[in-house]
Amino acid sequence: MGEVRVRIAPSPTGFLHIGTARTALYNWLFARNKRGKFILRIEDTDLERSSPQMVDVIIDSLRWLGLDWDEGPYFQSQRMELYRDYAQRLLTSKNAYYCYCSEDELRERRERAIKEKKDWKYNRRCLRLTPEERQELEREGRPTTLRFFVPEGETVVEDLVCGRVEKDNSDIEDLIIVRSDGRPTYNLACIVDDLEMRITHVIRGNDHLSNTFKQILIYKALGAPSPQFAHLPLGLGEDRSKISKRHGAVSVTEYKKMGFLPEALVNYLALLGWSPGDDREIMSRQELVKVFSLARVSPRNPIFDIQKLEWMNSQYIKGLEEGDLLRLVLPFLREKGWFREELGEEKREWLKRVLLLLRERAHKLTDFEDLGSYFFSSEIEYDPQTVEEYLRSPGTKRKIVLLGERFAELKDFSAENIEIALRALAKELGVKAAELIHPLRVAATGRKGGPSLFHLLELLGKEKVLKRLENTLSLISE
Ligand code: GLU
Repeated sequence: MGEVRVRIAPSPTGFLHIGTARTALYNWLFARNKRGKFILRIEDTDLERSSPQMVDVIIDSLRWLGLDWDEGPYFQSQRMELYRDYAQRLLTSKNAYYCYCSEDELRERRERAIKEKKDWKYNRRCLRLTPEERQELEREGRPTTLRFFVPEGETVVEDLVCGRVEKDNSDIEDLIIVRSDGRPTYNLACIVDDLEMRITHVIRGNDHLSNTFKQILIYKALGAPSPQFAHLPLGLGEDRSKISKRHGAVSVTEYKKMGFLPEALVNYLALLGWSPGDDREIMSRQELVKVFSLARVSPRNPIFDIQKLEWMNSQYIKGLEEGDLLRLVLPFLREKGWFREELGEEKREWLKRVLLLLRERAHKLTDFEDLGSYFFSSEIEYDPQTVEEYLRSPGTKRKIVLLGERFAELKDFSAENIEIALRALAKELGVKAAELIHPLRVAATGRKGGPSLFHLLELLGKEKVLKRLENTLSLISE
C-alpha cells in the first residue's frame, strides 16, 4: 500500500466538538501508526456561519490535544475555482444538470408529499427540459443550481468499522452540488478535496454515512477510485444520542477550562470506542500510536462517562512532574484571585509542596482551589455542623488549648515534631491520638478530611496554626 493520507475537516461554525476531537484523534493515531500523513482542512464554504475566531479556537484545541498535522490548514473558501472545474466536468459528462426550481417551489412540493404521506425526493423536473424551456427559465432570471444525476443501481460501502452497507440508488435524491450563488455544497467540495489531497482513508462520524453513498456515486461519475471509509459511531451520550449540551460540556475548550489534562483527554477519547485488545487503561500517546488499528474500533455506540474521564485525569495529575504540576495549577489559582503577584523562589517551593500534598485527592486541575483553600486564604470558614460534631464535645476546648501550648514550644515546626508533640500529649491525657487529631484538623482547616495532617500543619506554618487554634476557641467558648 502507498502512503496513508487522512484528514480532519471541521467546519468552523462552532468550537471543536468533543466528538470531532475523537474523530481527529482516530485519524491522527491511524496516520501516525501507518507513518502516513494527517491533514487539516477547514470546511468554511458556509461563509455566514463560519468565523475566523472559530478557526482559531479549532486550531488551538487541536494543538492543545497535541494532534499535530502534516499539511494544512487548507481552507475550502480559497479553493472555489477547483470546485467549479469539477462541477463543469460533471456537467459536460452529463452527470449533472441545471435545476431552476426555486426554493419555494421545492418546499411546496415537499410539504405536499408529506401531507399525502409520500416519500419526497426531487422529481427531476428540470432533467428533461427542452432547450426552449431552459432559455425561457433563464430569461426569467431564476436562481440556478446544479444537481448531480443519480444513476440507477445499488451503491455499496465496504466500511472498515461498520462492515458492508448497501443502498438502492432509487432512495438517493439527485443532490444539489452547486448552490444558486455558485458555492459548492458539502458533498462536492468534500470529494474534490479528498481526491486532490489524495486521501486514502476517510475516517469520520457515522452521521455522514448517508453522504458517503452520494460521494461514492460522484467518484464513479468522475472515473476516480473512492478512498476507503471508516464510520465511527457517534452516539456518545448516555441515552445513546449524539453527545450534546444536555450531557455536559461539548467543546474541547470547556474541558481545558474545567482542568482536564490533554494527555488524559486523549487517552480517554482513544478508549472511547476503541480498545487495545487487553485491559490496559492508562496508555501514553506513544503506546496508543503503536497499537492503534481501525479493526479494533467498535461499531457499537460508546458511552461518554465523565466520571471515568475524571478518574483518568486524576491518574495523570498524580504522574505530573512537580514543576509541571505548579505550572499547570497556578493559572487556575490566579484566576480565583490567589497568587496574583510574582512568586519568589521560596513561595514557589512552598506552593509546590502544598500541591504535591493535595494532588492525591485531585481529579481536575480546578480541584486544587477548593482542596487547598485553607492554605491559600488567611480566613477559613467553619461549617456549623462540623463544629458541632468535632469541636463541641466536652473536653475539646482544653485539648485545643493544650495543643496550642505544646505547638508554641516547638522550635522546628516540622511534621515529625508536631506528631511527636501530639502523641506525647495524648499519652499524658490518656486519650487516643485520634481524639486530638480530629478536632485539630477541623480547627486548622475547617474540614473533616484531607491529606496527612502533620504535613499539612507543617506547610501551614506555626503562626497560622496557632492563630487558627485560638480562633477556634472563640467558636466553642460558649
Ligand atoms: N465538515 C464536515 C463535518 O464537520 C466534514 C465531514 C467529513 O469528514 O467529510 O462534519
